[in-house]
Amino acid sequence: MAEEAMPAPPSDKPVYRFAPSPNGLLHLGHALSALLNHDMAKKAGGRFLLRIEDIDLARCTPEFETAIYRDLGWLGIEWEKPVRRQSEHFDAYRAALDRLMEMGLVYPAFMTRGKVKARVAAHEADGKIWPRDPDGSPFYPQDDRHRSEAERRVLIGRGSRHAFRLDMAKALRLVGRPLSWMETGDGERGEIPADPSLWGDVVLSRSDAPSSYHLSVTVDDAGQGITHVVRGLDLFEATAVHRLLQELLGLPQPIYRHHRLLLGADGRKLSKSEGSTGLAALRDQGLSPADIRRLVGL
Ligand code: GLU
Repeated sequence: MAEEAMPAPPSDKPVYRFAPSPNGLLHLGHALSALLNHDMAKKAGGRFLLRIEDIDLARCTPEFETAIYRDLGWLGIEWEKPVRRQSEHFDAYRAALDRLMEMGLVYPAFMTRGKVKARVAAHEADGKIWPRDPDGSPFYPQDDRHRSEAERRVLIGRGSRHAFRLDMAKALRLVGRPLSWMETGDGERGEIPADPSLWGDVVLSRSDAPSSYHLSVTVDDAGQGITHVVRGLDLFEATAVHRLLQELLGLPQPIYRHHRLLLGADGRKLSKSEGSTGLAALRDQGLSPADIRRLVGL
């Protein structure tokens, strides 16, 4: 039977998760996130889950996945088995996408990244401002949103590659009331107003990956009964999109805690290519798990 996007039955225990993507080696920033989740779950007598976010089949590798298990095990972190691997649950994300399609909130988007870039560049060359999302990516042009069903069918029939995007304006009209989330993290706290419109027509499924980060993370947090989402402040603004998808799909909302980010020597957020802060490299230099805790400020 095809997998459905269903919320897990409510649990009497808090459920935490660490959800890395196996597209590089874990660094100190991941250690902070994993240890925080693990410590909070333990303190609350709750559960700690590990989820492998590997929908990007081109960039994720089994070697990086193995390295995640090795690094987390070395840190003394224990997680429930089996681990949920997103690449094994494309049916669940497809089911969620189908529901949004039935609600008339999704359209096929045919423009390649290069085409979007050229369109934006031409617009900006005229001195005009093109809207961008909180990550700095340009909004998707409106052309495809306005196509007729007949036109869409012809293009798809011709084999044109396409993604699926959420019609943000329509989705917000359907919800019809302001959204918010409960935030308990290191930045702003309390009931935070969610403004998903800041993200434009977000992608729900790519031409080269049958889901998107926003869709799969929302479906999985509900499907795994996650009660507390603890992750970096870099994902603070994205929470608005997750709240919208929860509302549209009738999924419960977790409590959020967005934690401080660790910065590299250049003052920028750590990245997976940053060898010197990689956990494996630090282990090879003789550092202990206790040293790592100290380095991340725990
Ligand atoms: N997979 C995401 C990442 O590695 C984290 C997703 C989340 O915690 O919501 O950045």
